[in-house]
Amino acid sequence: MIDTTPTTACPQCGSERRLPIEYGDPNEETRERLLEGAAIYGGRYLDPDAHRWFCPACQHRWGNP
Ligand SMILES: [Zn+2]
Repeated sequence: MIDTTPTTACPQCGSERRLPIEYGDPNEETRERLLEGAAIYGGRYLDPDAHRWFCPACQHRWGNP
C-alpha cells in the first residue's frame, strides 16, 4: 500500500514536494504518516478517478494509485 518511490514532480506547478494519497483502512504505519503530514487520506474507498499523489503547493492531484 505504501509506495514512496519517487515519480515525476507535480505536473501542474513543478513542485517536487508531493504527498502520497492513502486509501482504505489505514494501518498503524499509515496512520502515523497521516498524523505527521507525510501522507494524506483519500478515503476508505478507492474510486475509479482516485489519484495517487497530492501537491500541497497547488492542491493538484494526479497519477493512478
Ligand atoms: Zn503542484
